[in-house]
Parts: sequence; C-alpha cells; structure tokens
Amino acid sequence: MPEGELEGRVALVTGASRGIGRAVALELGRAGARVVVGYHVRREEAEAVAAAIGDARVVELDVTSSASCEAAVAAAEAWGPLEVLVNNAGIVADHLSLVMSDEEWTRVLETNASGCFRMCRAALREMVRRRSGSVVNIASLSGIRGRAGQVNYSASKAAVMGLTRTVALEVARRQVRVNAVAPGFIVTDMTRSLPQPVLDGALSAIPMRRLGTPEDVAPLVRFLAGPGARFITGQVFVIDGGMGV
Ligand code: NDP
Repeated sequence: MPEGELEGRVALVTGASRGIGRAVALELGRAGARVVVGYHVRREEAEAVAAAIGDARVVELDVTSSASCEAAVAAAEAWGPLEVLVNNAGIVADHLSLVMSDEEWTRVLETNASGCFRMCRAALREMVRRRSGSVVNIASLSGIRGRAGQVNYSASKAAVMGLTRTVALEVARRQVRVNAVAPGFIVTDMTRSLPQPVLDGALSAIPMRRLGTPEDVAPLVRFLAGPGARFITGQVFVIDGGMGV
C-alpha cells in the first residue's frame, strides 16, 4: 500500500470512536489524511483516536438527525475541502421478526440506512461542485445473505447497498465515487458480547477459520477512498474470510 496517497486530504469517518470506524480513521491517518473522527456519545474514545492520528479533529454527530449530519460536514469543510467520507456508524437491535418492535425496526433503519443517506446528501453537494471526492459506505454480509434475528439490520444494510449504487450513478459524471464494503463477522463491541455458541457458529462458518478484525477491513476502505480506486464506483466489496462464498 503506498504511503501518503491521501496526504493533506480531509476525511470524515462516522462512528470512529470504536471498532471498524476507529481502525479506518487510523488507517486513513497513516495514508496522510487529516481525519475528522466522528462519534455519537463516546467523546473520550474519539479524542484518543484523534490523538493517535495527530493531524485530526473530533466531531459529535448523530446520524439520525439531518441537522447534525449537515453540521458535521460543515465542520469538516471548515477545515478544508472534504475529499473522503466513510459512513460507518451503525447499530444492531436483534430480535426474531415475529417479536421485533416497531421501535427496534425504526431505530436500526434510521441509523444505518437513513443515516448513511443523510451523510451522503450532506457531503456530496460540495464534492459534486468540486468534481472530486470519494464515499465509502459500510454495509454488511447480512445485507446480502439472510440472518435469523436481524431482519431490521439486514434490511438496513441492503438499503445501504442499494443507495450506494444509485447515488454512485447520480454523481459519476462529476468524477465523485461511491462504493460500499460489506464485512462478514468482525470482532468489535457489536459482536463481542454475543453468546459463545453464536461466536463458535460464526467461526465454523468462516472458511479462513478465524474471526475478522477491524484492521482487516481498514486497508480496503483506504484503497477505495484513494486514487488507486479512481475508476471504481457503485460497487460492493465483501470482506469476510470466505464466509459468504
Ligand atoms: P461498534 O458498535 O463497535 O461502533 C459503532 C460506532 O457507531 C460507534 O463509534 C458509535 O459511536 C457510532 N454510532 C452509533 N450510533 C450512532 C449515531 N446515531 N450517530 C453517529 N454515530 C453513531 O460497531 P462496529 O465497529 O462493529 O461496526 C461499524 C460498522 O460496521 C457498522 O455500520 C456495522 O453495521 C458494520 N458492520 C459490522 C460488522 C461486525 O461484525 N462488527 C460486520 C458487518 C458490518 P459511540 O462510540 O460514540 O457510541
């Protein structure tokens, strides 16, 4: 991987206080980007990520609010032209369909799908005007294959992939790119607390016989964000140790 291919470019990562977003923020920092570390409530964790990067700032951001998304993009733009947006913020609220509440359905769709849309809308305006920029949305293997207990999450991630393709078509002529990454099973706070039988089941379903790490995902996001991917748009890249093959 070339060092410094994002030198001096401003990159905003949502949900960068922990897990995959944190690893992505650090990786973009290694590529030379000036990183805006988005967090929802964990400011201290976000500040630690920014301190580890060096040339970085933190921004409080709730992707369920259009005003908050607009404000975060404005804060990034105030630092310099926003060149890279990584829509990583996401939640789960698992239940079987027959017992899932409206609130659980809506909360997950609002955060994962609508949140991604709001951030794209807010950031793409200036990217399109400048004819430059790259968006990477974090989808999931659960949006491609069914997963019992995740009807809301699976629907939200399928939506992320659908909006990725459509938005990519809408902005392609302006040389702005929009892609998605669909991780399989990655060890983070989201998955760490799952019951041991579920973790064992995930492990045995992964042909590479290990669970993924945030550091496995980050280099692919870095590549898609950068100039090496300059002719790639509207695509979804699965990263799962072979789980979905
Ligand atoms: P974590 O639970 O570790 O982190 C979630 C992040 O999202 C945190 O930074 C959190 O901020 C932020 N966040 C939560 N709600 C909001 C909100 N309303 N507005 C803004 N930010 C918010 O998750 P992961 O690292 O595991 O997941 C990151 C992404 O990867 C998600 O989109 C997830 O769906 C996806 N993914 C994860 C997989 C996995 O196996 N872990 C597999 C496939 C996809 P704060 O810390 O401040 O609360």
